Amino acid sequence: MTVLFIGHGSPMNALEINHITKSWQNLGKTLAKPRAILAISAHWYVPYLAVSNNKVNHTIHDFYGFPSQLANFDYPSNGSPEFTTEIIQALDDFTTDGIVRATDWGLDHGVWSILTHIYPRPEMPIVQLSIDSTKPPHWHFELAKKLRKLSQSGVLILCSGNIVHNLGLLNWKMPEVGSEWAIKSDLQLTELITTREIDKLCNYNSLSSVIKLAIPTPEHFLPVLYALGASGDEHIEVFNQVYSYDSLSMTSFICTK
Ligand code: ZN
Repeated sequence: MTVLFIGHGSPMNALEINHITKSWQNLGKTLAKPRAILAISAHWYVPYLAVSNNKVNHTIHDFYGFPSQLANFDYPSNGSPEFTTEIIQALDDFTTDGIVRATDWGLDHGVWSILTHIYPRPEMPIVQLSIDSTKPPHWHFELAKKLRKLSQSGVLILCSGNIVHNLGLLNWKMPEVGSEWAIKSDLQLTELITTREIDKLCNYNSLSSVIKLAIPTPEHFLPVLYALGASGDEHIEVFNQVYSYDSLSMTSFICTK
């Protein structure tokens, strides 16, 4: 199966048809159909490791200031307590801290804004894994290696964040422009991703003077490490390497044999 890292950008992508969301629709036409989806999103960043545990997922609206059409958006999908158990078993020997079976989390917009385009009516269960905010980057990469066996058994692993993501420097007047530091950082990070320079990526703060602008907080970047860990040494193909609102990159990649 495939491992995906997708730059999700604005939640409005759930409603819009643009060149980004068309590329997501194309994935739905070209990807082999998975038996289940495991999603890791920047927006479930909590101080513990958890796996969602629902028969039916609820659509979480974890944002403010968007039109009511988005606030009321529903992405009907199922979870699977059996698949939750399978994920916990895959991670069992990795951590002794315990893994929470979470019924208070459905799917956040980092997941449904993308999947509504890839799989508008999902027939497979979708389960989310949290990102433990107390752990360093290398820990996340090592954990993700444990997900490889799921990927090898028909599970699509969807990692959702943004390689460059600085909300404090967003410029709403520039929806299709990236500032110089954003483009420079994105190109540098993407080069390290495609060559799988894991140590450099885990120590991203020492890469360059502008990288703190690109990654002011870890949560949107860490899903990159999940995609790299879960995909082993598979070939990496970059797509959607475009920029928006000065301070976001939409750069995404797909890992396939
Ligand atoms: Zn986000």
